[in-house]
Amino acid sequence: MAEFDVDLFVIGGGSGGVRAARIAAGYGAKVMVAEEYRMGGTCVIRGCVPKKLFVIGSHVHDEIEDAVGFGWSIGQVSFDWTTLVANKDKEIARLEGAYTSNVEKSGARIVKTRAVLEDAHTIRLATGEKVTAKYILIATGGAPNHGPIVPGIEHVISSNEAFHLKELPKRIVIQGGGYIALEFAGIFAGFGSDVTVIYRGDNILRGFDEDVRKHVRAEMEKRGITIITGRTVAKVDKHGRDFTTHLSDGSSIASDQVMFAIGRHPNVGGLGLETAGVAINAANGGIQVDGWSKTSVDNIYAVGDVTHRTNLTPVAIREGHAFADTVFGKRPVQVDHATIPTAVFSQPEVGTVGLTEEEARAQFSHVDIYKTDFRPIKATMSGRDTRVLMKLVVDGVSDRVLGCHIVGDGAAEITQAVAIAVKMKATKADFDATIALHPTASEELVTMRTPSARHVRQAAE
Ligand code: FAD
Ligand code: NDP
Repeated sequence: MAEFDVDLFVIGGGSGGVRAARIAAGYGAKVMVAEEYRMGGTCVIRGCVPKKLFVIGSHVHDEIEDAVGFGWSIGQVSFDWTTLVANKDKEIARLEGAYTSNVEKSGARIVKTRAVLEDAHTIRLATGEKVTAKYILIATGGAPNHGPIVPGIEHVISSNEAFHLKELPKRIVIQGGGYIALEFAGIFAGFGSDVTVIYRGDNILRGFDEDVRKHVRAEMEKRGITIITGRTVAKVDKHGRDFTTHLSDGSSIASDQVMFAIGRHPNVGGLGLETAGVAINAANGGIQVDGWSKTSVDNIYAVGDVTHRTNLTPVAIREGHAFADTVFGKRPVQVDHATIPTAVFSQPEVGTVGLTEEEARAQFSHVDIYKTDFRPIKATMSGRDTRVLMKLVVDGVSDRVLGCHIVGDGAAEITQAVAIAVKMKATKADFDATIALHPTASEELVTMRTPSARHVRQAAE
């Protein structure tokens, strides 16, 4: 009789867990996956995918407005939120089915239930059943933060609920200045809501390049989104169907919905981590792992948002794949967490890879900045008041391109391709040697000849 029921038990059927399960099963391992909600996890069910569908839908508003300058006259248009949500739900259900069948086709078995650790080799299912496993992978993802509990927090929605609202709010207040707050600000504004963003710091998108932060804010404001900085939400009152959001400075805003998008925390609670001896990383609250995604217990690994490293789907997938290769494929792989491209699907979009100007200047003695800020060709005819930002951060000594930052339509698509060059350690001379593709916005990346700034750090006396 086998020593364990399964070779691998995966807790969580999201991006990281699903990839690990499929690859491990492909290597011949006997795999079981527990999912307590819906297969596909955050990205598929209530993250990247439905969000991107909403972004695409909300952008149509701009297309209609822009069409006029190109000679179109579009009659009365109307938008139906219920149709959008229903069609999105249909697509998400299709994807959930595809995730389920792909896992099953790989030979892994799915159990639709919550699973927790009983000890280092035993998993307890909510059904009461116990399963023993040689290896356990924790891929339980994360969940929205509510922050310090303010009076009226029960009236506040998170991104989870935003995907299922019964109707489009005419006015919405969104607290937060990161990915989710700005993406939903663009979504709601695109569909016609009056949007107010409340951010506690001096400018949105902390951690992004300073020029990007200024540019995005200015562009969002031009689109009619109100951005209030240096304040937090102190209290939310509900009167009938309306809400009053009271801010830390004593002012207040009326709306039909209030949403918080103030970060996410790793799903580590109630998992039995202490009983199994799995340590938490005190610095970030996620499960502590080494470069192989191994926890403090030899046979237990953790990948994705539950480790709170870089909370992005492709990273969770890569970590899950590397784990399966290492443990079941006899092919040790470590994930390189450097130079991960990322995009904020705000409107306009942000695409970024590599170092910001501020990070580069802190790490390198000579930093050259190539920057351009221009009116995209479409705006010349549409008349839209908008500008695109493109910026390259270059090591002035080696000529290596350290970072690329773009704000404008297509920024995410462009950044994915530029990320290959940046990962390959391309130099500015390599960019210059590349012939432009005309007329595009991204040709600016290979035609910027003169640095807009050269920073040289003086040697310490
Ligand atoms: P998840 O995908 O969260 O999967 C974890 C799964 O575990 C869940 O299905 C959960 O139900 C299950 N689970 C938890 N505990 C248990 C248990 N005890 N037993 C059984 N099952 C359990 N990333 C991008 O790269 N691009 C984007 O555009 C993007 N947009 C996003 C938009 C939003 C609104 C949000 C919230 C996130 C977005 N992300 C995006 C982040 C991305 O969704 C996550 O980084 C990714 O889903 C993490 O994958 P994971 O496998 O670690 O966890
Ligand atoms: P972010 O970390 O991106 O942003 C959180 C925001 O909330 C920040 O502006 C932060 O301010 C603010 N904040 C944090 N705590 C408080 C508080 N107590 N009171 C008021 N404001 C607060 O988190 P999100 O929730 O937007 O998204 C979670 C993660 O999901 C992202 O970091 C990203 O990894 C992933 N994601 C990725 C997407 C993509 O790839 N396009 C899209 C959506 C999510 P401050 O900056 O001052 O700390």
